[in-house]
Amino acid sequence: METSSTKLDVFINYDSKMKAVDSKYSGSFSLRFKTIVRFLVRNPSGRETLVEQKIKPRELVSETEIPPFFLAEEETCCQYIASVLSKKTNIHSWIQGRIVPDISKDMIETSRLLEEKEGFLVEAEVEVVKEMVLLSINVNELESLRIQTEHDDCTICLEELLVGQREIMKLHCSHIFHEDCIIMWMRHNRSCPICRQNVV
Ligand SMILES: [Zn+2]
Ligand SMILES: [Zn+2]
Repeated sequence: METSSTKLDVFINYDSKMKAVDSKYSGSFSLRFKTIVRFLVRNPSGRETLVEQKIKPRELVSETEIPPFFLAEEETCCQYIASVLSKKTNIHSWIQGRIVPDISKDMIETSRLLEEKEGFLVEAEVEVVKEMVLLSINVNELESLRIQTEHDDCTICLEELLVGQREIMKLHCSHIFHEDCIIMWMRHNRSCPICRQNVV
């Protein structure tokens, strides 16, 4: 029986702001890039507990002008932006492939809206969210649990596992703990407290 497993999800969120810039009669863009790494525990009823979150914000591309010629068509605009990103950043090509068309679309739309009479800046913001999810199954059948478990106590709090209303969580190594105890433990560790097997 599959008791729990882990899952890695990656999302890319794109957002942008347009600003008119008086000084230049052309378009520029800048790129701010944020990496968010989240570690979550999800129980069978779908409730999620955020164990850890790390955010790394970086400004990767400061205001960079795109010559008006390249704003005429999507293809040339995408090529120009891609070449800037390749030169100035080390963003993975698959992430580049997702964000370049978005920046290009914003650039071309703004350029047409302003009819090339005003300079503008597109401030692009990209968020890459990496989510590690530990999926777990609660063990509610006390009888089968008594046979399976070698520990009657939760090794984290040393209290009995099967008393009271506390949720119990089983890791994929089959070791069992109180749900709140193992979530606390996971804030500082990524391995099972009993067998040291990695959880993620
Ligand atoms: Zn406990
Ligand atoms: Zn274990």
